[in-house]
Amino acid sequence: MIQVAINGYGTIGKRVADAVRAQPDMEVVGVAKTRPNFEAETAVEKGYPLYAAIEDRIELFDDAGIELAGTVDELVAAADVVVDACPSGIGADNVEMYREHDTPALLQGGEDADAADVSFNARANFDETTGTDVARVVSCNTTGLSRLVAPLEEEYGIEKVRATLVRRGGDPAQTGRGPINDILPNPVSLPSHHGPDVNTIFPDLAIDTLGLKVPATLMHTHSINVELESTPDAAEVRDLLESQSRTFVIDEHMAIDGAGKLKEYAQDVGRPRADIWENCIWGESITMEGNDLYLFQAIHQESDVVPENVDAVRAILGESDAAESIETTNEALGMGI
Ligand code: NAD
Repeated sequence: MIQVAINGYGTIGKRVADAVRAQPDMEVVGVAKTRPNFEAETAVEKGYPLYAAIEDRIELFDDAGIELAGTVDELVAAADVVVDACPSGIGADNVEMYREHDTPALLQGGEDADAADVSFNARANFDETTGTDVARVVSCNTTGLSRLVAPLEEEYGIEKVRATLVRRGGDPAQTGRGPINDILPNPVSLPSHHGPDVNTIFPDLAIDTLGLKVPATLMHTHSINVELESTPDAAEVRDLLESQSRTFVIDEHMAIDGAGKLKEYAQDVGRPRADIWENCIWGESITMEGNDLYLFQAIHQESDVVPENVDAVRAILGESDAAESIETTNEALGMGI
C-alpha cells in the first residue's frame, strides 16, 4: 500500500484524503493542520492521524482537546509521498522539507510552475512526472482546459485555443472573497495566467485566455473557441468528448441550465460534498463553424483536481501507467455521471 501524507487539510486536502482512502492501493498515513478548527475535528473523527503543521501551535490542539499523532516532519518521514495542499506560496516553501526527507511531493496549482520539476495532468502528460521529486498538479481551470485540449489535439489537431474564463469569486467557505456585487475583468491585462499555465502541459499549444470574476461560489464557467486543423461536424466532436472518462457532456433532456442545477444533480446522485470531478460540457453548446469549435463548460473548482492528485501519486512513484491509474481512480471514486 502506498503511504500518502496530506500536508494542508483544507478545501483540496480533505477531498484528496478521502479520495486516497477510497483507492485499493493507497492509505492515508496522516494529515497535517495548522489550527484545531472544525476540519481538524472531522479529520480525527474520520480516523486520519492528525499532525501539527507548525510545532509552536501544538498547545492549541491540546487546549481544544484534539489529539495529535506528531509533527509534520514525522509525517513526511513516514510517507512514501506527500500531497501538499497548503495555501498558494506555502507549498513552494515546504519543498525544502520534502527534499530533506527524500519524500516525493505533489504541489497544487496555486504554486508557480518553477516550484516543481514538472506540471501534471493525468490525461495529457502522466509519464513526464514519473521519477521526478516534485510535481505540480495544475489548477482547477488548467485541469479543465487540459482535459479538453488533449483529445481535440490528438484527434483533430489545434491551430489555436481562445478561452474566456468566468471565474467564481471564491469558494463557498471563503467568506472574505469577492466581488459581492460586481463583474471584474480579472486580470484586466491579457492574457490571464491560465493560458501560460496550460502551456506547462502543452508547450507548443497556441492559446489565449481572458478572465473575469463574478459574485458566485459554485463553479467556474468557460466560454471556449478552438480553431481546429480539420473540420469534423459537431456530432463527431460531441462523440469524442462523450468518450472521455473525465468529461461529462450534459444532455439536453436533463434541463441543466447552470452551475446551480449541476450541483443539485451532484447532490441527488449522492456525490460526496456535491463534488463534480468531471468537466461539465453543455452538449447543446458544441458547435462547429468551419474549423472553429465553440462550447461552454463548467468546472467545479473544489474537486476537479482531486482525481488528478490521486493519479499523480501513482505517476510520481512509477506505480502505474496512465490508463490503468485513471481507470482505478475513476472506479474507486465512482466517476462518470
Ligand atoms: P484552503 O485555504 O482551503 O486550505 C489550505 C489548508 O492549509 C488550510 O486548512 C490551512 O489552514 C492549511 N495551512 C496553512 N498553512 C499551512 C502550513 N504551513 N502547513 C500545513 N497546512 C497549512 O486552500 P485550498 O483551496 O485547499 O487551496 C490549496 C491549494 O490548492 C492552493 O495552491 C490552491 O491554489 C490550489 N487549488 C485550489 C482550488 C480551489 O478552488 N479551492 C482549486 C484548485 C487548486
